[in-house]
Amino acid sequence: MSADEVLGRLRAYREHDAPTHGGRVLSYVYDHGLPELDDVAAQAIRLLQPVNGLDPTTFPSVALMESDIVAFGRAMLHGPDATGSVTSGGTESCLLAVKAARDLWVARGGVGRPRLVLSTSAHAAFHKAAHYFGLDVTVVPVDMETGRADSADVVAALGPDVALVVVSAPSYPHGVIDDVAVIAGAAADRDIPCHVDACVGGWVLPFWEEAGGEPLPQWDFRVRGVSSISADIHKYGYAPKGSSLLLFADSELDLARYFAITDWLGYPVVNPTMLGTRSATSLAAAWAVVQTLGTDGYAGLTRRVVAATSGVVTAVEGIEGLRVKGERSGPLVAVATDDSVDESRRVDPLLWTAAVAERGFVLQGQPALTQADGTCIPHTAHLTITPVTEGLLDELVPTLVEAADVARGHALPSPEALSHTGIPDPVALADGARAGGDLDLTTVLSLIEALSREDSARLLSAFLQRFTAPR
Ligand SMILES: *Cc1c(COP(=O)(O)O)cnc(C)c1O
Repeated sequence: MSADEVLGRLRAYREHDAPTHGGRVLSYVYDHGLPELDDVAAQAIRLLQPVNGLDPTTFPSVALMESDIVAFGRAMLHGPDATGSVTSGGTESCLLAVKAARDLWVARGGVGRPRLVLSTSAHAAFHKAAHYFGLDVTVVPVDMETGRADSADVVAALGPDVALVVVSAPSYPHGVIDDVAVIAGAAADRDIPCHVDACVGGWVLPFWEEAGGEPLPQWDFRVRGVSSISADIHKYGYAPKGSSLLLFADSELDLARYFAITDWLGYPVVNPTMLGTRSATSLAAAWAVVQTLGTDGYAGLTRRVVAATSGVVTAVEGIEGLRVKGERSGPLVAVATDDSVDESRRVDPLLWTAAVAERGFVLQGQPALTQADGTCIPHTAHLTITPVTEGLLDELVPTLVEAADVARGHALPSPEALSHTGIPDPVALADGARAGGDLDLTTVLSLIEALSREDSARLLSAFLQRFTAPR
């Protein structure tokens, strides 16, 4: 194919993608609204395109870019002596935080299986880490109203077999900041490291209060006992996808993150992150974006996020039948049914999400979850607020109101009713969705609620396997 044909084909492939710019998709993308920022990132990608990030001694630019970002990040997160790396994303940062803690636990004489302590609201990446690296997980339920685990329950779960306790700032599902000071302090008293997952908050909360946002509890390296923090540059750092910052307060723990080996036939391998050969392009793009914005740039963008968030929260609070879920702070909003009104006036957030989608905005549905203590956290609609949301409020707010009017008084089929229909065929689901039929996400989320967690996870894997396979 000629270059024109290749690029033409790619453009055609992109035709059905959700819009990445303009603020109509309220998850996945973090639009800063500054075209020149996309330009500088694209040029940085081009400059570093052929470089191999595997070996910063051969390509010192990799070390220079990385140390600049670490320097910026540790000042922002108030850890003047912190060390760390730029990783490929939040999941990799979380995996490495767990891997480091596990290896340190073993090095200090831990025997048997180490344990990870977290709450229901902690990101799925930590379950993935436990699965990959062989840790048991203790999941502490969150309170129905606050969306936060009782810190006494988390502390009670700590013991000599615990390699790491994880808290969030804020949690992705409900945007709630955990009780970092109490939990990290108690962990420090027991010599257990505490990871603050600030993947989503790490590049926006540091600027939040000065930007006019609500006061926040302390959650960064200033808190005693916080041993590592993940902060995704490809979220509110506004870099293209493929970059996250992982910092450690303590260099012994940081070193436990490395994998190095010299007893094989080839070159000595020293990997600070999961990959071997790695692209330097996303690092370069992140570096370029961070340098371009600087502290003032982030502060300015955060002012817009604060204004937009307060506009959305006020709008949702004004809608009969819906309510904002959890004691949230920061730029994430979860919306649940308001059970205090008469059934005929309630709005189901998944039906609301579908009605909002028909009107051109995409919210993210989150299924209900029954916790270990038997409480059921209801399903919600999730909104990630970005700088461009501010300019869209005039359109978004009436859309949210109108969609609620359409959904009000209607109920989803109950999980019990759905569970009788059995597990659907993943192949038929995938083929239907690929044939151009829109995937009915309300049905998918309802299925997750109706099926066992094992069955729904298996179904979704088989679905995606088919969806992405060649025909
Ligand atoms: C996004 C997110 C992650 C995972 O990050 P990815 O970049 O999607 O891999 C982990 N924790 C929190 C709180 C997040 O918001």
